[in-house]
Amino acid sequence: MKRTILFLLALPAILFSCSSNTITGRKQFKLLPESEVQAMALQEYTQFLTTSKVVAGTNKDAEMVKRVGERITKAVENYYASKGLSKELEGYKWEYKLVDSKEVNAWCMPGGKIVVYTGLLPITQNEAALAVVMGHEVSHAIFNHGNERMSQQLGAAVVQEGLNVALANKPAETRNIFLMSFGIGAQLGVLLPFSRKHELEADQYGLYWAAMAGYDPRQAIPLWQRMEKAANGQTPPEFLSTHPSEGHRIQDLEKYMPKALEYYHKAIGK
Ligand SMILES: [Zn+2]
Repeated sequence: MKRTILFLLALPAILFSCSSNTITGRKQFKLLPESEVQAMALQEYTQFLTTSKVVAGTNKDAEMVKRVGERITKAVENYYASKGLSKELEGYKWEYKLVDSKEVNAWCMPGGKIVVYTGLLPITQNEAALAVVMGHEVSHAIFNHGNERMSQQLGAAVVQEGLNVALANKPAETRNIFLMSFGIGAQLGVLLPFSRKHELEADQYGLYWAAMAGYDPRQAIPLWQRMEKAANGQTPPEFLSTHPSEGHRIQDLEKYMPKALEYYHKAIGK
């Protein structure tokens, strides 16, 4: 009986929360208000920075991360504006940090906080390849993939209570779900892989953002090949977690390449 009532109470929220993504068109199951997710992200990001070695902004690699980040996010903002969708990026205040860590990782939090780990740079090797990875991470954030993952993990009852109550009652558990859902769970020794469809969306649009920002999208192919090789035998970074095989990913990228090259030529004026 109690369960039925709970379910009925949760029903409007569930129906209301199944909406189509305006860019990808895919139906999404998101239960958490974006504002709550962004607030929690900001808290986690601030804490992460105080416990990490942030590379000084004057360092040339840190400058590159900032430059790539600015170009990518400008491309995203222009694209959303051209579609009349700027409102979807509400609350986004972009920041770009390089942190000193051997981990091969990068992430973008909802709200636009982007972190690249120095361990990623020997694999990206060049600015265009870094742009492809950062574009991939930005896509996960702006398409609310983390919110979808978190909604699935938390369940309707917790979502009804709200994130704040869940945090107060089960702080460690809620926080772990958050960190896993946003791709920074590797530190915890647990990784919740993004689903294949999330990865495909992030690959496709990540390639487009990089191209629109004036980076050669063809760099994506050798990049993912290097990534695959580097991850051999180690815990794979989030961007490799759900890809069944390198060949498959390359095939998909080649499918998106003509469109990406169009964006690229337009961006560089050739
Ligand atoms: Zn990913």
